[in-house]
Amino acid sequence: ERVREILAQVEQRGDNRLGVEAMELFDAYGIPTPEGEVVDDPTAAAEVAARIDGDVVMKIVSPGILHKSDIGGVRVGVSADDVADTYEDLVSRAKSYQPDARILGVQVQEMLDLDEGVETIVGSHRDPQFGPLVMFGLGGVFVEVLEDTTFRLAPVAAGEAEQMTADIDAAPLLRGARGRTPVDLAATVDAIRRVSQLVADFPSIVELDVNPLVATPDGVRAVDLRLTVD
Ligand code: ADP
Ligand code: MG
Repeated sequence: ERVREILAQVEQRGDNRLGVEAMELFDAYGIPTPEGEVVDDPTAAAEVAARIDGDVVMKIVSPGILHKSDIGGVRVGVSADDVADTYEDLVSRAKSYQPDARILGVQVQEMLDLDEGVETIVGSHRDPQFGPLVMFGLGGVFVEVLEDTTFRLAPVAAGEAEQMTADIDAAPLLRGARGRTPVDLAATVDAIRRVSQLVADFPSIVELDVNPLVATPDGVRAVDLRLTVD
């Protein structure tokens, strides 16, 4: 089906890594993603932003740029009036950072409320001995610094996935520490299960990271993804 097609396309292209293209894999597996689109000119960017409620987030889309925020390739809270200028700015930053970068365009995305939400990470890699593992933890740009993660063999059952959300040090954040509204744990558990099923179903996916999977009281959204196929 669709997933197989996308993975085959990647193979044909000779790339073994994919980013926003993988959003479609997630649609196929019922993992919610934010509203948004990838566009390749400023006018189209403004049109997409006009269809989205409130401010938007804009991100450079280039196969050579894996950590977008490291090069100033992510702009949060862009108002409709600034979308076209921000498009040009993101592209010129990317070019000065990497003159030979193949820039595919800019992703215009619905902005999620991180005051209400928690940035989590759901990841996977293939262990040579045990096969696909699924990882869950506290996400965001500081994920390597915080190292608050837990692993299981994929695919995981609901009970196991639920246990994962309880295992991490940041578990109280999810459950609503300090008067915060708890995040939608059922949706979080469901997303972990679905990611674990995706990597179990497709052995060619050797590595996958959803970072962040933003968990809010109303559900979850896979905001950024990256995967490697062999
Ligand atoms: P990268 O990991 O390549 O730097 P991300 O897409 O993960 O790029 O964006 C970096 C950070 O920007 C996220 O961890 C999050 O804090 C913020 N961010 C990205 N997209 C959104 C969004 N749609 N709504 C709110 N915050 C976002
Ligand atoms: Mg990220």
